Amino acid sequence: NTSEMQLLERRLDAWVAASRPYTSGGKVASYIPELSKAPKDALGITILAADGKAASSGDSELRFTLQSISKVFTLILALMDNGEAAVFAKVGMEPTGDNFNSMLKLELVQPGIPFNPLINAGAITVSSLIRGSSPAEKSARILQFFRRLAGNSRLAYDTGVYLSESETGDLNRSMAYLLRDHGVLEGKVDEVLDVYFRHCSIQVDCADLARMALVLACGGVDPLTGETLIPRRCVQIAKTFMTTCGMYNASGEFAIQVGLPAKSGVSGGVLAIVPGRLGIGVVGPALNAKGNSCAGVHLLETISKEMSWSMF
Ligand code: GLN
Repeated sequence: NTSEMQLLERRLDAWVAASRPYTSGGKVASYIPELSKAPKDALGITILAADGKAASSGDSELRFTLQSISKVFTLILALMDNGEAAVFAKVGMEPTGDNFNSMLKLELVQPGIPFNPLINAGAITVSSLIRGSSPAEKSARILQFFRRLAGNSRLAYDTGVYLSESETGDLNRSMAYLLRDHGVLEGKVDEVLDVYFRHCSIQVDCADLARMALVLACGGVDPLTGETLIPRRCVQIAKTFMTTCGMYNASGEFAIQVGLPAKSGVSGGVLAIVPGRLGIGVVGPALNAKGNSCAGVHLLETISKEMSWSMF
């Protein structure tokens, strides 16, 4: 409601200023070399309400790649393309407690399926399930879907990041080969990875992220156009994974400290939702040891506590 947004507008700058020093406790991701160019001390946020009112502060216009945040939306597209039964035959529903790029548990659930769709192994499997007659068509469908969710027809790839990850993505490549050997991943490994690397490299700013988040917050309806973009059941599944696995192996702590469904990426982006009301996009490229934005998590913690937003 209006008074909530007015309060946010009044206090957001001070909260961002108080969280910004936490950038110095983190490191910008460098395993994808191109990501290391991001500004270490940046921090920005956009909060978008269902009536279209927005509050932004800090470096909210910084452009960054979705990285793992994209996994939430490719999961949704795969569910829309194939239905629940087909998707969950290939990927599980449980958190791992391991790093996002771990291969450790790929032998545990038979027949060697990834624990959940938000770890890399699971998301690569999900990429293989996107409908399309070629990798180019699959990627085009994903980009088109993301553009509609963000209400921004100009969303595009950061080609530098895409090439950088493609050149250095041997860990992801090795996971994909293992999954193919298990009969979980079908098709050509290089083609599946191309789809995966491309959706990770789609570039956004905090406003794009907030708009995508708002569609989830509103049960799949874009409240600004009235259009239903995602079936409600798919949103329910996505929000559940965001709560249990969205912040990697810090999801339990995040649920306690913030208490909102969220998804982070190694670019330092965080998408969060206040169910029924608000979409939130945050960026802060300096990451903590778990791969989440240091200052971004601090900022969300502050705002959630001040506004009593926790769902729990
Ligand atoms: N593209 C990144 C990777 O595959 C995504 C990981 C992330 O954001 N945690 O390693």
